[in-house]
Amino acid sequence: MISGQTRVAGVVGWPVRHSLSPLIHNHWLQAGGLDGVYVAFSPPQDGFSAFAAGLRGGAICGLNVTLPFKEQALALANGAADQVSDLARLAGAANLVLFHADGTVRVDNTDGEGLLFAFARQAPSLNLSAAPVVILGAGGAARGAAAALILAGVPRVHLVNRTLDKALSIASALGPKVQAFEPSQAEAAFEGAGAIINATSLGLGGGDGPKVPWQAVSPDAVFMDMVYKPLETEFLAQARLRGHGIVDGLDMLVGQARPSFEAFYGVPPPATVDVRGLALAQMTAT
Ligand code: NAP
Repeated sequence: MISGQTRVAGVVGWPVRHSLSPLIHNHWLQAGGLDGVYVAFSPPQDGFSAFAAGLRGGAICGLNVTLPFKEQALALANGAADQVSDLARLAGAANLVLFHADGTVRVDNTDGEGLLFAFARQAPSLNLSAAPVVILGAGGAARGAAAALILAGVPRVHLVNRTLDKALSIASALGPKVQAFEPSQAEAAFEGAGAIINATSLGLGGGDGPKVPWQAVSPDAVFMDMVYKPLETEFLAQARLRGHGIVDGLDMLVGQARPSFEAFYGVPPPATVDVRGLALAQMTAT
């Protein structure tokens, strides 16, 4: 039931049609018996600032933000009283915007929390503080992950990217614990790593994942793929065949949604709903 007090939040992206976020949040709302709703918005690619300007003042309580608007979402916090979380600032992007009634905004980035949630769920014995972590890719997701891992106590992050300049620019923004490598130096980057994360778009939709120098990989290294369509990517399948622990990207999606839900509706998501199972069912059906 929509009432006179329904709290409205949503996700904005382009395209956004296939987002699993409405499914996840609306099931949590329903299970919690909360008076709220979560909808999807898809303004034109060049229309994000006009869209967001209309929401200032609290027309809705908040938004999750996905591609291609995450950097523009960070830039929304441009007033003296607006707030930017440390993670959003370090990540250079925001996936969560809260609109306050006084016209101010708070921007945050919960993708890193999602990543840590996925590791905690699927590789609970991995100690992320014990060894370097390799991140393949240097786009927005890689930068957010590097920032969150450094804040979580990872000793070093090794970024391996096709375009070295992008990795170098993240390393210079995040400090000396982040080092940039080009693919030809991958063996040095992988040596002694405790976890290896695919943050490239390779493997999306079922293609080949990024190349791995298997001879340099520690036997106990855990492999994580941010891509979750398919759930077991070629990258993860290769790692599993070699006996490595694996972590899929769907729990990262659920993990970033949890703090967003609490920020929108004021209570944590109910533990009684298997949103991962619901998301998997929707992915299989489409
Ligand atoms: P992005 O900014 O577009 O970055 C894409 C990255 O992939 C870049 O580093 C790019 O390298 C690399 N890449 C693309 N094609 C390549 C190729 N043929 N060979 C080598 N490298 C290639 O994208 P993003 O926002 O960072 O997202 C990356 C992935 O993470 C996407 O698949 C996204 O869906 C996923 N993701 C998942 C979650 C989740 O909750 N599970 C959250 C965020 C993102 P160059 O720099 O050389 O172009």
